[in-house]
Amino acid sequence: MRPFTSTIPLAEARALLTAGVKPIARTERVALADAAGRVAAAEVSSEIAVPPFSRSAMDGYAVIAADTIGATRERPVRLRIVERIYTGQLPSQAVEAGSCAEIATGAPLPDGADAVIMVEETGGGAGGEQVDLFAPAAPGQNVGRRGADMSPGDRVVGCGDLLNPSRVGALAAIGCGEIELFERPRVAILSTGNEVIEPGRRLGPGQIFDVNRFTLSAVVTAHGGRPERHPPAQDTLEGLETALTACRGADLIVFSGGSSVGERDLIVDLIARRGTMIFHGIAVKPGKPTAFATADGVPFFGMPGNPTSCLSNAYILLVPFLRATARLPLYAPRTVRVPLARRIVSPAGRHQFYTVRLHDGAAHPAFKGSGEITSLSRADGYIEIPADQSTIDEGASVEVTLF
Ligand code: AMP
Ligand code: MG
Repeated sequence: MRPFTSTIPLAEARALLTAGVKPIARTERVALADAAGRVAAAEVSSEIAVPPFSRSAMDGYAVIAADTIGATRERPVRLRIVERIYTGQLPSQAVEAGSCAEIATGAPLPDGADAVIMVEETGGGAGGEQVDLFAPAAPGQNVGRRGADMSPGDRVVGCGDLLNPSRVGALAAIGCGEIELFERPRVAILSTGNEVIEPGRRLGPGQIFDVNRFTLSAVVTAHGGRPERHPPAQDTLEGLETALTACRGADLIVFSGGSSVGERDLIVDLIARRGTMIFHGIAVKPGKPTAFATADGVPFFGMPGNPTSCLSNAYILLVPFLRATARLPLYAPRTVRVPLARRIVSPAGRHQFYTVRLHDGAAHPAFKGSGEITSLSRADGYIEIPADQSTIDEGASVEVTLF
């Protein structure tokens, strides 16, 4: 056994992680339909005006505003209808004094007209040759001017912008069918342990199903990474070295298991051969036996084997690291403030992430143990208990970070 010589505080681990981020540099062209949630790798400017032509914003009548002065329900202004303009077609003639054109929302405004009166403020026009206007129109009323939204040359997205739904919409509006994006970081995920086998197979004596590969893949996918799955590796230095070699090309490598101090916990030896240890052991609970290193020149997380420890640290440490690598903005989970249903005790000297369930407006302890995945799967979120605090009393107001 090789005990931890020391652990580092959470804040220090976070600072070392931040310093170890290499934001992704590779880019790729992606169809706009697949671009949502991704990060633009180049500025995109409009080559067209949006809208590309002046158009009606209402179903109604395209008029010359000056013709409509003084119109009321009692004393309507009567105009001659010269044509009916539908969307996707061009007007065939100009509107002149005393005339108008019936027009649909989104149809091009005819020459001469400078306003649209909505159909609700007119009478007698449907199917007829003339229409009565019950209200005057101001110049520009109900008209969407050519270029009012965007002009040629306007910047639509900048390099590094996250493509949220509205930005994808703006790109669609300028006709951009493909866009240059930063690649999603490739994240190699690998479970270690002689006892670990893949779900779907038959469990033999002493074996357990691999949980961590699935929790880690889900987290990586949700936060902008591309998980690359590898089969579980055996607890031998050769097994781990072969597994590490298979991770070539990844931007980030995440192993789980083998990072604590049991005699078979060989992550330390692996890193000694293939990289540089940056830290090993964090003063958190769960998740103390977590390592961060470079291996074959690539950032490497050695996560605890215990599924709750592994997933907890994935949320707390891996997510910010991955998002920074992917150039995604910081992730701020939602929080709620509620009273604690039952007193809890936390070990001194370790920053604890204590899972809770929300029920009847209170936070109920849900933490069973680091090895129990249900500590998390039956919880709604967690509360944080700083290293210098050891109890929280029943009824105390706590902030719950929601999953
Ligand atoms: P280790 O960190 O390798 O010492 O593992 C700690 C505990 O977590 C042991 O009970 C392992 O069997 C268990 N464990 C390790 N890896 C996994 C995994 N991928 N899925 C589920 N449990 C695991
Ligand atoms: Mg193990």
